[in-house]
Amino acid sequence: MSPAHYDVLIIGAGIHGAGVAQAAAAAGYSVLVLEKNGIAEGTSARSSKLIHGGLRYLETGQLSLVRECLRERSLLFHNAPQLVRPVPFYIPIYRHTRRRPWQIRLGLSLYALLTGLRSHARFQRVARTQWPSLDGLQTDGLQAVFQYWDGQTDDAALTRSVIASAQQLGASVQLHTEVNAVALDNEGCRITCTSGSEVREIRATVLINAAGPWVNQVLACVTPAAPTLAVDLVQGTHIVIDSPLTQGIYYTEAPTDGRAVFIMPWKGKILVGTTERRFSGNPDQVRPSEAEVQYLLQCYLRYFPAAQAPRISESFAGLRVLPKADGNPFHRSRDTVLYPAHAGRVLTIYGGKLTAYRATATKVLQRIKPLLPQRTARARTDEITLSNA
Ligand SMILES: Cc1cc2nc3c(=O)[nH]c(=O)nc-3n(C[C@H](O)[C@H](O)[C@H](O)COP(=O)(O)OP(=O)(O)OC[C@H]3O[C@@H](n4cnc5c(N)ncnc54)[C@H](O)[C@@H]3O)c2cc1C
Repeated sequence: MSPAHYDVLIIGAGIHGAGVAQAAAAAGYSVLVLEKNGIAEGTSARSSKLIHGGLRYLETGQLSLVRECLRERSLLFHNAPQLVRPVPFYIPIYRHTRRRPWQIRLGLSLYALLTGLRSHARFQRVARTQWPSLDGLQTDGLQAVFQYWDGQTDDAALTRSVIASAQQLGASVQLHTEVNAVALDNEGCRITCTSGSEVREIRATVLINAAGPWVNQVLACVTPAAPTLAVDLVQGTHIVIDSPLTQGIYYTEAPTDGRAVFIMPWKGKILVGTTERRFSGNPDQVRPSEAEVQYLLQCYLRYFPAAQAPRISESFAGLRVLPKADGNPFHRSRDTVLYPAHAGRVLTIYGGKLTAYRATATKVLQRIKPLLPQRTARARTDEITLSNA
């Protein structure tokens, strides 16, 4: 029996694999997603869970990324209200914080401008009389608090929902199926994969490598050999503290190095993150270190000193995929890189933002369309409603 054939085969059921599956199925192509574990068991369950433009990226001049993410944020508020909700963000400014009130006001004005006439562009300076209502926020040395809007989601639930949408549009998904080899020939890609003890071959016209931190491992099993982009894997840890937070998300500066750390309400508890630490080794083995846990706990206690012996109920770590460079990863571009090999038949997604998954998938589709047969589109992804799958 000849192997099954798909127009588009996607490796990885994280948010990028899900987004490309949805976009390709919506464009009318036959689609298969292969995932070695379950849906959203990699990075896409270990993010900060923010659907945001990324206020801090303004400092590094990443205006087009911020604009794109803000546009996608608006779409998600509209198309996925069960999954993505607007949340007030608070930026406290103390005598010791590096950024001064005028800088924050300038940044928020630009952020509002890039949001355009869409909703949730407003920001304000919180009146001093309202400070006591801010969850016990430290007020010693507090000079100003700014409030603006961004979004929060359950990253794994969002990914599951996009996968469900792709399936409704006709995509197939096979979980617990690992891709072990990819061979290119005149007819396209021949993919060898294993599920348990079963080994199978599948053919596809185009292969999308959406394997997150494993992308270069996947490229290493392509023949003829495919070029790879040199990357740094940068670990980001979060801790979950067993107490509630009611007013919104606090955007703080870590006391030791001034990095942005978010203190967020999360399923009745508090999520604090994140860190940045170069990682080498097997991405399957990424774990929070004790130093990272302490760094986040100290940051939380600095801003909420009244918290009595906070209990950490959970911690988790994920890996960012950033273009290799010297220097501090905090200032590195967060743009997604689409990297073609074998005349575009193998397209790898490096890096990216949860927020911009749909925009990334749209760009992937534009790249691969010339290689694919004519099909009749079934839907537009900017008009698809997502519900909690
Ligand atoms: C700490 C941290 C915080 C972040 N916070 C935010 C945020 O708040 N907002 C935001 O917009 N973005 C955020 N991001 C970015 C965002 O989370 C990631 O860009 C996104 O989740 C990456 O998704 P992905 O699908 O590329 O990778 P993943 O979710 O890692 O998915 C890759 C999948 O490929 C599978 N796979 C790997 N190899 C194989 C194989 N050989 N065969 C089959 N399957 C395979 C894996 O099992 C995995 O499920 C954050 C990232 C990190 C690390």
